[in-house]
Amino acid sequence: MSAQPPVPPHRCGGEFTLIEWIRRRVGSHPRLEVGIGDDAAVLCWPEPERMLVAVDMLVEGVHFDLQQATPEQVGRKALAVNLSDIAAMAGRPVAAVVSLALPRGQDEELGQRLHEGLVGLAEATDVALAGGDTTATDGPLVLSVTVIGAPLPGGPVLRSGARPGDRLLVTGCLGQSRHRHHLEFTPRLAEAGALLDSGGLHALIDISDGLAADLYHVLAESGVGARLRAEDIPLREPEPGREHSPDGRTALAHAISDGEDFELLAAVEPGAAAELIAAPPFATPLADIGEIVEGNSAELLMPDGRIVPLPPLGYEHQLD
Ligand code: ADP
Ligand code: MG
Repeated sequence: MSAQPPVPPHRCGGEFTLIEWIRRRVGSHPRLEVGIGDDAAVLCWPEPERMLVAVDMLVEGVHFDLQQATPEQVGRKALAVNLSDIAAMAGRPVAAVVSLALPRGQDEELGQRLHEGLVGLAEATDVALAGGDTTATDGPLVLSVTVIGAPLPGGPVLRSGARPGDRLLVTGCLGQSRHRHHLEFTPRLAEAGALLDSGGLHALIDISDGLAADLYHVLAESGVGARLRAEDIPLREPEPGREHSPDGRTALAHAISDGEDFELLAAVEPGAAAELIAAPPFATPLADIGEIVEGNSAELLMPDGRIVPLPPLGYEHQLD
């Protein structure tokens, strides 16, 4: 009796049907000379020569919980967080590849639903899904997406360009994102382009760790400090039924220290910032929340006139 050929350990039963399903679902894209189905994708690369690359990995039980998020939402988010990073460089996304480790036994349907969410956002943002890798695992679901993009003309815009006197502008509203917003946010790609077009965009970051933490990334990279005005920080309205923060923190404390807002924080030359605020070039709210100053730390002007230090991470006790 001849021995069975060994089954490669990373192969799972439904892997090939899943990849076939993904291949049909994704279809063709004008920038993909060769897409899913060969050993590597062949991509028609647009000008310019420089390329942006971002990767983010989501692990079940660490970054998401399938009791609280649908597979479609998780798949969408895995791409969306990368698109937010590309936006934060003042870039446009071009293509993406996906790595998927599916818990054994539920690969087929779960894999399809993850990809349904991911491909839907890829289509909406004109990102070519160029390929990926799929494996079975005895561990938790892991989904890693890599996006490659191109800097917009005049980009990329780094964290390191903020200068004293720059205004600090923020898109959208901040805080309390962990119930729904973190699964539904729109990556601020168009807004980043419009901020760049203002001609005064010096530094840019997306708020993923929280306003204070991400502001400090800009301050550290730029060698500057900042002063924020509490009254001008745009607060997300709590969802119905969630008006009372379980830990008693104020909406301002949430806005400053919660993460996963995926809004843009920009340091903009004052003249260009004033024009942007007077006539925002997009429908997303845009707020001037303070300015870049000399130094290396941040402080917050409270509504009652007190000035309190703003540490990189939570300091909510000082706000309440
Ligand atoms: P190889 O053994 O050459 O790596 P694979 O069987 O891993 O080939 O993949 C076959 C094709 O399917 C490749 O084009 C790959 O990019 C694509 N692919 C595999 N998994 C995914 C996925 N989760 N999403 C999109 N494309 C995928
Ligand atoms: Mg492979």
